[in-house]
Amino acid sequence: MEMPVINACEVEECAYNTEGACHALAITVGDVRHAHCDTFFRTPAKGGDPLGIGQVGACKMADCRHNSQFECHAPGINVGYVESAANCLTYSRA
Ligand code: SF4
Ligand code: SF4
Repeated sequence: MEMPVINACEVEECAYNTEGACHALAITVGDVRHAHCDTFFRTPAKGGDPLGIGQVGACKMADCRHNSQFECHAPGINVGYVESAANCLTYSRA
């Protein structure tokens, strides 16, 4: 299977974010209770692959309709703020 792409991420304070795009090669989502981006990392330096587009490597949100066997099967996701935390906005309870 192909890893889902991160279409956009509004969390510009994250080290992997440049101009609304994620450049982490594979993020991890979820702590079972919340669809947080676990890869979120705040530091002054920017990281990731500047030529790469972020993708979802793994997701622990088993109750999301896009999740099967702790992997995301959505064609792509969006990430943004929910109550000041970086969250998968594509999360949808099954
Ligand atoms: S998706 Fe996660 S790792 Fe990527 S830029 Fe957004 S908060 Fe950072
Ligand atoms: S859409 Fe659902 S399965 Fe995919 S990363 Fe977001 S919470 Fe996980």
